[in-house]
Amino acid sequence: MNKTFDKARLGLIALLILGALLNIVLLKNVRSPGEIVAEDTPDEAVVLTGVGQGRNGPVEVEITATADRIYGIRVLNHQESDGIGTEAARLLPGKIYESQSLLVDSISGATISSDAIKEAISNALTAGGFDPEVFMVEVAAAQVERTPVTLDCDVVVVGAGGAGLTASVLATQQGQKVILLEKMPFVGGNSLRAEGGMNAAGTKLEKELGLDDSTVENFTEDTLRLGHYLADPELVRTLAENSSDAIEWLKTVDATFTGVKATGGCEGRKYLHQPEGGVAVGEYLVAKLKTQVEKLGIDVRVNTKATEILMKDGQAVGVLAEDAEHTYTINAKSVVLTTGGFGANFELMASFDPSLANAVTTNHSGAQGDGIMMAQAIGADTVDMDQIQLHPTVIQSDGSLVSESFRSLGAIVVNTQGKRFVNDLAGRDVVSQAELKQPDGYCFIIFDQNLVDHLALSQRFIDGGYTISGKTYEELAKNMGLSAEAQQNFVKTMDTWNKSVANGLDEEFGRNNGMDDDLSTAPYYAIKIAPGIHHTMGGIKINTDAEVIDTDGNVIPGLFAAGETTGGIHGGNRVGGNAVCDFIVFGRIAGQSATDFAKAEALAPAA
Ligand code: ADP
Repeated sequence: MNKTFDKARLGLIALLILGALLNIVLLKNVRSPGEIVAEDTPDEAVVLTGVGQGRNGPVEVEITATADRIYGIRVLNHQESDGIGTEAARLLPGKIYESQSLLVDSISGATISSDAIKEAISNALTAGGFDPEVFMVEVAAAQVERTPVTLDCDVVVVGAGGAGLTASVLATQQGQKVILLEKMPFVGGNSLRAEGGMNAAGTKLEKELGLDDSTVENFTEDTLRLGHYLADPELVRTLAENSSDAIEWLKTVDATFTGVKATGGCEGRKYLHQPEGGVAVGEYLVAKLKTQVEKLGIDVRVNTKATEILMKDGQAVGVLAEDAEHTYTINAKSVVLTTGGFGANFELMASFDPSLANAVTTNHSGAQGDGIMMAQAIGADTVDMDQIQLHPTVIQSDGSLVSESFRSLGAIVVNTQGKRFVNDLAGRDVVSQAELKQPDGYCFIIFDQNLVDHLALSQRFIDGGYTISGKTYEELAKNMGLSAEAQQNFVKTMDTWNKSVANGLDEEFGRNNGMDDDLSTAPYYAIKIAPGIHHTMGGIKINTDAEVIDTDGNVIPGLFAAGETTGGIHGGNRVGGNAVCDFIVFGRIAGQSATDFAKAEALAPAA
């Protein structure tokens, strides 16, 4: 290595250390309200506050600044999602401070919250009479030569969403040394976005509630039927049979469910387990699993992307990965792929259905199908890759999802004529297809104050400015921008619906669930929605032990997969609440199989 290079490298390392130290000073102060922010803050620096619009409502930020330098940033208040917005609030101030630029890259996967923080800082500067343009400087990407590093472990898990966190916890609990890789700046993936609940059958809670229909047989059949009998029946049966155990296991990581609601399309049968207070299930479970991962001291590496599966004599023996500064060779006795689906990879989706090229997606930006491609590269088979699910109630401006739990609690869907047009709680594919046939390309989901009072997660839509409201049906219809005729239709629709709920009979469309409460408690709310890409049902072919199968139908030794990266479990349509069931059930199975394999490898005589 030549000396000039060495000097440059030393300089760069010094800069990085300085940046990190400044960051520590700053972050320390971010968490300590009222303190001076950076040690070099001059007397003339002023403290200013500004507000930006986040996903769930206003984000308030305090800065300490002069006209040409920001000395401190504190996010004072926000209601952004746990695990996503909270990560932007934690990570972005340091990046802006270090670069002194509002053009610094947003925190990947938390763009809306990041933009809100930048907007709030810009507004604070303006409020202080400073010009935000001074901080609109392009930030050059640091050119760092990556250092090669070799790591050894028993089990390497690729992707820290629900399936990866679950598999890692399970393997670690059984004494395995696990390395968990996550390419995004924070864990959680699409799992973090799951709102409705977790389906399970034959659980203690269902038995306590006298839900005799919530059996493994019915759940298996409902999943197969709603998936158009395309799924692998063995995998579906495994999902259903292990779902009750999964709920029990979750108790050991302090996650409990207190209610069970009807699952969409299941003719009133209740499998959808919900955490207390109707909080979003994904945020709830990811937080619990993450706490467990921390307690167990699992080696989690965020911002670290796996790029290739290492093979030796036909067996998976590790992965190659990289972060900003290193390339990694990770040797492992077994490899678990839990990289999620490809619902944000428009090129890949369009190769199956060109109409999806410009569709809105509910997926996080990391859902690119990496695991599927890495597995294919070493000969793995895939199934149902062309089965891509549209969710019927997606906000088109930013892909936010209005989950089924709204309809399970009584919300309905109307078109721009003010009319219902489908059993609003039929399968996602049925409702989405019906919506696509309505005039104007969008519809509304309608609910009332009673629902808001019973569904904690609904408040974020009100605070985030997504809802249109009215004190009467007439006022709501007007505020929705409906024509005079459609306004009248809407009032009639609501009256008819309330009568149907009272009679327990939806004569128009045969809906028979989510009808416990009518929609008669003012104020009334509407959210403009249309179908959006939600779940990629296809993926890596696995068997009931979560072993990956190759294109000749043989198991690839040492390679396991679970969650949305796999195919065969949801067939042609994923049932709402089954993704969560999938990532816990198959996450556990993959964790167990990978553990068993790694233990056997440890005992095997060296080659
Ligand atoms: P699941 O529900 O199956 O767990 P998620 O979408 O919740 O799926 O999680 C998948 C996780 O895998 C995401 O956090 C995603 O960022 C991560 N991921 C995807 N590709 C890679 C990769 N190449 N290396 C590391 N992590 C990855």
